[in-house]
Amino acid sequence: MSSVTNRIAVWVGAASALLVAVVLGSGCDRSAQPPMATVVIKGEATTRPAKGRVILFGVDALGPGLLDEMVEGGHTPTFARLYEMAAVGTLDVRPTVMPPLSPRIWASIATGQIPREHGIVDWADILPDGRVVLFSTSDRKAPAIWNVVSALGRRVAVVNWLMTYPAEVVNGFVISDRYDLMWAEREASQSNVETRRDVGRAVYPSSLIPRIGKVKGLKPPAVPIAAEYEAIDREILRMAMAGLREIPVDVALIYMRAFDEVCHTAWYSHEPLPGMKVEGNGVDVVVEYLERFDWILAELLSTLEPEDHLVIVSDHGFEPNPRLGDGEAPHLQGIHESDHTATATLILAGPRIQKGVRIGMASVFDVMPTVLELAGLPSARNLPGKVFAEAFLPEEREFLPPVESYTQTWSEGQSDDEATEADAAIMERLRSLGYIDEKGPRDP
Ligand SMILES: [Zn+2]
Repeated sequence: MSSVTNRIAVWVGAASALLVAVVLGSGCDRSAQPPMATVVIKGEATTRPAKGRVILFGVDALGPGLLDEMVEGGHTPTFARLYEMAAVGTLDVRPTVMPPLSPRIWASIATGQIPREHGIVDWADILPDGRVVLFSTSDRKAPAIWNVVSALGRRVAVVNWLMTYPAEVVNGFVISDRYDLMWAEREASQSNVETRRDVGRAVYPSSLIPRIGKVKGLKPPAVPIAAEYEAIDREILRMAMAGLREIPVDVALIYMRAFDEVCHTAWYSHEPLPGMKVEGNGVDVVVEYLERFDWILAELLSTLEPEDHLVIVSDHGFEPNPRLGDGEAPHLQGIHESDHTATATLILAGPRIQKGVRIGMASVFDVMPTVLELAGLPSARNLPGKVFAEAFLPEEREFLPPVESYTQTWSEGQSDDEATEADAAIMERLRSLGYIDEKGPRDP
């Protein structure tokens, strides 16, 4: 097989009701065709050329209070440097329904929608026939940032974002969260389901796999050791950078998972319950992890150009688990259930953003409109959030007018398990109508 030629077609209808479809034509191996969303854009999409890239860097479980303590205590000099050149606020994730749940929140960050609208309400779903399976790509009912960016002719990368398997068609690449077998098994075991994963469908385009290389079969350590968790996140960043070297993009979403595991398994080393004897030589694994993660951030920052924007977001903080010993899973030292864990980290930096300031609290739904604005693309009136104006320099607050709505449909007859030959037919029709730009995406 191989030599799969992907062509992107951008079909633009009447200005009052733009319908933009990103269509893939795949030469062979139809059974393994990736899912493909068609974004329907209502209203005129006004765009502006983006000078640099936008990197949305997701760090699971990074609470803003804890991060402030790390910066003030001198544990994380790179974060301290970033605070000086960034707008530092917080993110309210309560509207995603309490208690904070990672897949639900990360899907809300990516789609700008409430869980009922985007459909990823948990880790696993119960099918009509009673089977329990992990949520997957085509369960998502609302277009994500990567779909809108693709539909408007810009390039996008998605790396390790939760619930992105099978990797879907984008104008760029997707390394799904199940490319790393360890996380795939982890997610499956959390919901007591089998791991369904075909490595060829974990990356789009699959021709990227030899270029990013295999994930080195890392396993979470039996005893929480910060260095081993650090290796897991480093591997994700390495893959992201390898992908970006092959396929440069305008917008990249990169998601880091290991700190959530650190907090679940080692929170007592940081915040023991009164009278509790803590094992592990008094090492605060949580702090040690963040000291190491600071180097990962430094590595990411070293790849940024002056025109790029960086947006760091998280999904929740952590608290000690008071029920431990009452039959609760023994590794769950830390949990995120109460209201104060529903405030997450938000940091923005780049040429249009205020520097060295504290800003207020944004809604979890503001991330998508803000990222789109930074990428030179409009938000939509059917999104509950708005561009987070407070983060922008006063002279940078003239935002693009939103379109009426962004919605999506999955290609007809396509599901995660089965693809049809509809893509080829659609491609042929568009080509015959002259809508297909054989050279690739057009500049909007
Ligand atoms: Zn989380």
